[in-house]
Parts: sequence; structure tokens; C-alpha cells
Amino acid sequence: MNAITEGKEVEEKKSPVALFYCAGASNVGQSTVTGCVETAGILGYNRVALLCLASISAGLKNMFNGAKNARGIVAVDGCPMSCAKRTLEKAELKVDQHLIVSKDLDVPKNFRISDAGAIKQVTNALVQAVLSID
Ligand code: SF4
Repeated sequence: MNAITEGKEVEEKKSPVALFYCAGASNVGQSTVTGCVETAGILGYNRVALLCLASISAGLKNMFNGAKNARGIVAVDGCPMSCAKRTLEKAELKVDQHLIVSKDLDVPKNFRISDAGAIKQVTNALVQAVLSID
């Protein structure tokens, strides 16, 4: 037994960083999905939470609260239309880090959905974005 298990102290667990991805129907949009999954795999699901953007648009309060209580929010969008960032800001959630794959990583947008090179770049950039909030 220690102070935590005896209930004398409360174990402080840091909340994870929330990742939102646009999941658009293009190489850059789809790279946001797989890049986020890869990032969670690298950093661990205790540090990163993948949250559904659609749940924010749908007005689901529990998902909104999950985002609100996150240590920070990272939004990744395929192109400058910035659907993820705009959706979050429309719901009055503060985006701490924003990545636009076609602009910030210079990946041309096309409709060949599976783009391994883009996924690798997105993953590397997202790991850095999360660590900058940690
Ligand atoms: S940000 Fe671009 S790629 Fe992503 S959903 Fe919007 S239009 Fe599609």
C-alpha cells in the first residue's frame, strides 16, 4: 500500500491530447485518418485520443466534453478548406495545433486514396504537434 492506494493522495493522470481529422475523400484527406491512427500507435492511447469530428457536427455533448477536457486539440486537414478546424471552431473549441497536409507538407491533392508517403509525413508531423502540447 502507498499513499495513492490508501486513498490519501489522488493520482493525477494527464488527460490525452485530442486529435481530429477531416477524413476527406482524397489522398490528403485519407492520410489524416491513417496518420492519426499511426500517431496514437506511436505515442499511446493514454496520451492521444482520436475523437470523431462528425460527433461534434452532430452536437453530441459527451464528445464535446471529451474535447473540451483534453489537454489540447490538434486538427489535421487534407487541404486549406480546413473542414476539421472550421467544424471545431464553429463549436467554440480552441484548436491548439493545426496541420494542412497539402499546404504544410507540400503533398499535392489527388484522388488516389492510398498515399503511403503522405501518411508517413502526416504521422511525423502529428507526433511533433502532440509533443509540443505535452
Ligand atoms: S479539408 Fe479538404 S480534404 Fe479535408 S474534408 Fe475538407 S475539403 Fe476534403
